[in-house]
Amino acid sequence: MASPALMHNYGNRTLTLVRGEGNYVWDDNGRRYLDALSGIAVCGLGHCHPAVTQAIQEQANTLLHVSNLYNIPPQEQLAEKLVSLSGMDNVFFSNSGAEANEAAIKLARKLGNERGLACPKIIVTDGAFHGRTLATLTATGNPKVQQGFAPLPEGFLRVPFNDVAAIETLASQHDDIVAILVEPIQGEGGIRIPDGDYLPGLRRLCDQHNWLLMLDEIQTANGRSGKLFAYQHHPGLLPDVVTTAKGLGNGVPIGACLARGDAATLFTAGAHGSTFGGNPLACRAGLAVLETLENEWLIERAEKLGAQLLDQLNRELANCTRVNEIRGLGLLIGIELDRPCAELVEQARAQGMLINVTAGNVVRLLPPLTLTDAECSQVATTVAALVRDFAQQAA
Ligand SMILES: *Cc1c(COP(=O)(O)O)cnc(C)c1O
Repeated sequence: MASPALMHNYGNRTLTLVRGEGNYVWDDNGRRYLDALSGIAVCGLGHCHPAVTQAIQEQANTLLHVSNLYNIPPQEQLAEKLVSLSGMDNVFFSNSGAEANEAAIKLARKLGNERGLACPKIIVTDGAFHGRTLATLTATGNPKVQQGFAPLPEGFLRVPFNDVAAIETLASQHDDIVAILVEPIQGEGGIRIPDGDYLPGLRRLCDQHNWLLMLDEIQTANGRSGKLFAYQHHPGLLPDVVTTAKGLGNGVPIGACLARGDAATLFTAGAHGSTFGGNPLACRAGLAVLETLENEWLIERAEKLGAQLLDQLNRELANCTRVNEIRGLGLLIGIELDRPCAELVEQARAQGMLINVTAGNVVRLLPPLTLTDAECSQVATTVAALVRDFAQQAA
């Protein structure tokens, strides 16, 4: 039982983790778990990666915080690195994913205000997850996240995910749209991967109507999909705004909103800010993460491991009738069952493995990019066995 001093928003938590190293974490009884979730796509380099630990130790001994009233060299270095790797022009740093999306939403609103629109609209999709602040929970396409928090801010139009035609229809009905905000692969929504022509279709519509294409890569970036950013699976395609967070600090809270072209210059002095955003500690962690992804070839590794994991899951679950679909790109993998399957989380735990179930019936695997081949195979074997048992019990 968690302390009664905590608010009750996280429900009943039954596992206490006290230590992590590489691809494993240990509970308060000394029991070891293979982590196939990485703190929900955060610890992509595994736990306590020495490069990150050293960077934050050094920075803790040097300077933790000064505020954005001053130049912050690690912030500038991380921004330059992100810009050079992403094809974007400028970066704003936040402390979380939701705040990175807030910055994106404010950019779109700023553009709309400059265009003289009374209520500029942002197109968002069903099944989306964009965060828990008021604006981002409104953008989120899940009524459970919004329930009880009225009044919600205006300015969002919703369409089905993976449906370019629905947006074309909206375009003919509204003349105050300024942006599309979408995940290139829906994470919380169940590892939903759109058709290959979806993002290019959105890019074309945004060019045609002078809208911003804003991608939420909070879960998909930082190498997880087999590219640093998932949009890089489409050569030549660039968003106008892209947000990331989760894996960028490997556990140190940091988020970023990157923008390109006109969108990158919308924030003038005083238009936006954050006390902690881009502080020296978080940015040193971010730099260490990006350097390690390169030095250890982990992005290429994510691609290879993801293909292996998907292949083995497909083989081991080939005849499992309760499996609707197995899908993934890099180390974002979802196994959709034909019924709710939350109990699989507990069953995996009993086998010494951490996994997640999202959207009710999708087993979500987000293991570290540092898995060995043997660990990768172990994840597939264990999960496939649990799913087969589950299917038999349900039959
Ligand atoms: C996790 C997540 C967020 C929210 O990030 P927080 O750091 O929890 O605020 C937003 N968008 C996507 C796609 C996410 O996966």
